[in-house]
Amino acid sequence: MAVKRTALIAGNWKMNLDHLQSIAFVQKLAWSLGDAKHDFTTVDVAVFPPFTDLRSVQTLISADKLLLTFGAQDLSEHDSGAYTGEISGAFLSQLECRYVIIGHSERRTLHGETDEVVAAKVAAALRHGLTPVICVGETADDLETHGPSAVPVAQLRAALETVTSAADIVVAYEPVWAIGSGQAATPQQAEQVAAALRAVLTETLGDDVAAKTRILYGGSVKSGNIAGFMREPNIDGALVGGASLDVAEFSSIARFE
Ligand code: PGA
Repeated sequence: MAVKRTALIAGNWKMNLDHLQSIAFVQKLAWSLGDAKHDFTTVDVAVFPPFTDLRSVQTLISADKLLLTFGAQDLSEHDSGAYTGEISGAFLSQLECRYVIIGHSERRTLHGETDEVVAAKVAAALRHGLTPVICVGETADDLETHGPSAVPVAQLRAALETVTSAADIVVAYEPVWAIGSGQAATPQQAEQVAAALRAVLTETLGDDVAAKTRILYGGSVKSGNIAGFMREPNIDGALVGGASLDVAEFSSIARFE
């Protein structure tokens, strides 16, 4: 029997909104979703603020019992020690983060994160009870040279190196050429890769995990194109960058309209 997966609409704020702005934003988002009678039993909505906002967002969500969830944009592969500037998964779980984004293409490209580092960060997230949102995706050159699925599939295989079938993970397929470019993949292109990624999950973690793991599409998602992605059988939500910084737009995306 097919497993019903709860959709996930995730807003990656990147390095935008300070801690004061984050409070106003989350309040407005909660009102907007409430006004639209958002059904949180069928779609999880999560925000991914910068580290310095996490405490404010946590306090607001827990004090006002908002149904939103939240996560961090990165974590250290280490748990503690002499790692200046790094943030431990232990700190994130104490702040009640549910998720952590790992291996975003901006981390891979601008901060030199290799597949090995990504795998170590996935292991660190799982050690601390955080759900890793594992990002994979090909560049325009990769697409031309290797076709659509080869690079994302290899990146996912590497990231799952230490993951066991008990783990709760989310996979985000984000073609690098579609991020911030205004040029999203077509739903068919995204579905083709998502199906290949689900096959990797089946092969490495078994049928049950593959059936329940959410695979998101990311890259120039907006209210005008979300519905097409959500109609695809292997796409269970979206990782949204630019459009997650506009309350009305993000709230529309969370309703797939
Ligand atoms: P975008 O970013 O929606 O602005 O393309 C997506 C992402 O980087 O996660």
